[in-house]
This record gives sequence, structure tokens and C-alpha cells, in this order.
Amino acid sequence: MTSEKIEALLNPQIQKSIEQIKGLLRQIENKTIGFQKQTGLHCKKGCGACCLSPHVSTTFVEVLPLAIELWSNGQAEQILAKIERSPKQGQCVFYGPYPKIRTNGRCSIYSHRPGVCRLFGFSSTTDKYGKETLMTCKVIKETYPKDYAHAQKCFQDGLASASLSGYTLLVGSIDPQEGGRLYPINHAIKKALEYIGFYTKSFCFRNGKQNG
Ligand code: SF4
Repeated sequence: MTSEKIEALLNPQIQKSIEQIKGLLRQIENKTIGFQKQTGLHCKKGCGACCLSPHVSTTFVEVLPLAIELWSNGQAEQILAKIERSPKQGQCVFYGPYPKIRTNGRCSIYSHRPGVCRLFGFSSTTDKYGKETLMTCKVIKETYPKDYAHAQKCFQDGLASASLSGYTLLVGSIDPQEGGRLYPINHAIKKALEYIGFYTKSFCFRNGKQNG
């Protein structure tokens, strides 16, 4: 079943939230790419250290577009089974580390990844004094100190990066019930897969089909 057809099975309010989330994800992606281009700051080639953390968390609503895609391309059941086998708060099921260097690897659903994965390393957040500060990761800071210093200067001179705090508020306003609730990433993906699965399976059952 195509992702458009799956989306059409959902209730209109959820459809609207999904479209808003997709727009928001595109927006922060473009802003981050623009910031990287203008400052020269970038990830270390092949690095996937941030995906190794067992503390990556996201909201249910942000991974609904991904869940739709996985039901559409037939990978949903396999991913659900993989999550069932993973430790409760383990690393993301979509991270594929290279065998020789675990901190290097790749995301297998890169174009559908949630906001946290797009913002990490290149966003700003509001500090305890209400001031917007640039956030990046330890690997970037240590590997490219000059680019980092340059990015800090650009940021202080007014070049905007995607704002984590602004993004969080927008997700919360798109879905007041679920938009502010963070889950470990695998848990959020499982919840979204089960939710979308309910609609796709009910549709297939009603229409006498084995699967989507
Ligand atoms: S979704 Fe992709 S980028 Fe995000 S934590 Fe998982 S593997 Fe990493």
C-alpha cells in the first residue's frame, strides 16, 4: 500500500499533524544545511557516535511519517521484531555501526529521521538566562576547533541555526497531547508502528488482503 493511501486511512486531525510535522522536519533540515554551508561546520566523516547513545529520545508524532513509510515498504513487522529483541533502552534500531569502528556507521532511514537527529550538533537552545546558545557535539568541537570557533562567531554575529527550544514548542503545538512527551527512540518508533499498523491491518482485513 502506498504511504499516501495509508495516510488517508488515518483520522483527519492526525493527517494534519503528520503534514505539519513533515513540513517542520523539512524546515529544520534546510536551516541546518544552510548553517553548515555558511559556517563550514560539519560532522566528522562517517561518524555516528550520537546514534550510539542509549539516551536518544523523541516524540511519537515525529516518527509517524517514518512508521507510515515502513508499513508502506513492508519493513514494519521486521522492525517491530527487532525492537522487541533490543534492550529496553538500547541504541536506535536504525543505526548500523561499521564492524571495525563502532562509533562510525550510518542511519538506514536518514531521510525519515526525527527532529532530534536533524538538530543534533548544529542547533541552538535557550540557556537558563533565556539566551539562545549554539549547541554542538564533543566530536565536532574536538575535531574541528577552528570551524567551531568560526561557527560560534557567525552565530554571535546573528547567523541563525535551527532552534531546539523553538522546534520543541512547535511539535507541542502540533500535537498538544503527544507532542511534548518524549520516549526512548525505539519505544517511540514501536508506538508509532503499532498505531499505523492498526489502521493498515484493519483496512486489509476489511478488504480481505493478507497485508498492505
Ligand atoms: S534515527 Fe537514524 S540518525 Fe536518529 S538515532 Fe536512529 S540511526 Fe541515528
